[in-house]
Amino acid sequence: MNASPRFSSVLFDWGGTLMSEDGPTDISMGLWPEVRAIDGARETLAALAPTHRLGIATNATVSKRDMIERALDRVSLLPYITDIFCYTEIGARKDSGEFWSKVFSTLGLEPGNVAMVGDTLDQDVIAPRKFGVFSVWFNEGGRSPLEAPGVPTIHRLPELVPLLRP
Ligand SMILES: [Mg+2]
Repeated sequence: MNASPRFSSVLFDWGGTLMSEDGPTDISMGLWPEVRAIDGARETLAALAPTHRLGIATNATVSKRDMIERALDRVSLLPYITDIFCYTEIGARKDSGEFWSKVFSTLGLEPGNVAMVGDTLDQDVIAPRKFGVFSVWFNEGGRSPLEAPGVPTIHRLPELVPLLRP
């Protein structure tokens, strides 16, 4: 294995990428009667964790950090996550320079050392690219690749692992 990964930090969108969003939208996911990890989420985080610092980047408006952690813990994903960047703390979304400034300063990294993966094309893929972040579209629903020409796209989360190799 190459010891120096291209991306020191890999950020995952939360809802619809690591965890299912099927639940009441007015209640924090951490309190939902049932929560579910997206297929392949755990194996993907486990594969990347030895060589990358992993984090969450979310625009969720209802959940604060403790509730995000609680939801992740309920599906055994929390141990892999070092950083949580959330709208409820930063007060800005992933299409804002304020959000990414907070990310880069906290990580102590240049934008080119950060990768982001998520299911929402504008917020998780197009916007991060504007701030120099390598982004991957998680197109689980099988939408047309023509919606994102030239963008690295995966249909299952484990496909991310080879994409991030040096
Ligand atoms: Mg999402």
